[in-house]
Amino acid sequence: NDYFFSNKSAKVFVAGHRGLVGSAIVRKLLSLGFTNLLLRSHAELDLTRQSDVESFFAAEKPQYVILAAAKVGGIHANNTYPADFIAVNLQIQTNVIDSSYRHGVKKIIFLGSSCIYPKFAPQPIPENALLSGPLEPTNEWYAIAKISGIKMCQAYRIQHKFDAISAMPTNLYGPNDNFHPENSHVLPALIRRFHEAKVQGAKQVVVWGTGSPLREFLHVDDLADAVMFLMEKYSGLEHVNVGSGKEVTIKELAELVKEVVGFQGELVWDSSKPDGTPRKLMDSSKLANLGWSPNVSLKDGLVDTYKWYLENSKQ
Ligand code: GDP
Repeated sequence: NDYFFSNKSAKVFVAGHRGLVGSAIVRKLLSLGFTNLLLRSHAELDLTRQSDVESFFAAEKPQYVILAAAKVGGIHANNTYPADFIAVNLQIQTNVIDSSYRHGVKKIIFLGSSCIYPKFAPQPIPENALLSGPLEPTNEWYAIAKISGIKMCQAYRIQHKFDAISAMPTNLYGPNDNFHPENSHVLPALIRRFHEAKVQGAKQVVVWGTGSPLREFLHVDDLADAVMFLMEKYSGLEHVNVGSGKEVTIKELAELVKEVVGFQGELVWDSSKPDGTPRKLMDSSKLANLGWSPNVSLKDGLVDTYKWYLENSKQ
């Protein structure tokens, strides 16, 4: 059997290895003993350029590909740069998936996000909710690109028997996340804001919205583990949700971040900021039934992420 894990010297191309997801996958592969990782920075290889990607695959002949390269961002970035979000993501994934097929890659995994699902999908959201209704308008450009990636993997499997699979993670967090004060997601934003308040001796920290929305969070190390599991065990046509199955309110999250950071003051809610969707939980029972479960609790994950932030926030 030619399993992914049986050959630690297999040549594995991790596209997007400097991002939140790609860097976690590299840590995971190294910890498992993989010795032949193929990594290229954006400056070394622009994945939007078809002929450059073709030449790279022809020269390097990777055996496995993990596609974690994408243009990502929060609601503000999505609204401001819709052309970039649809074009760059379509270009990257089309080039990498097609070149992988043409140059004899044994297996590829394509990574997306929970925003592929309709705005009013049933909760928890099962895989078959895909394309069952209109998308959330603020991120439909990104979502359409990611849906195209799933469909491209399916089409290449059907027409070419190419072993292309897709995984759709819930809200991720961890080392190498974006900690920008306005443009980041809630979890890194709160780590930074509580930390800066603690350092400055502030009495209050402002948190957006009402605190009542529910969100599911998964530590990126758990996603990296799930990706290894799927590379090993899964060769189905349908994409697979990857979540923790655990929801918290934004208020509970804020209290937990406050405790982990060690901020002593109080929380103030800014209800002029949007709550966004009231609930966003993935149904990850398909992955659970395949035999995978997450390991990192939200508390432990926050401790780990805050430690990383402390060590890296100066840069
Ligand atoms: P979403 O899951 O797509 O809605 O993305 P976010 O992570 O940006 O927001 C999640 C929830 O956290 C929303 O209800 C926000 O209003 C709330 N929130 C509270 N404080 C913040 C903050 O400082 N930054 C962000 N991005 N969201 C915050």
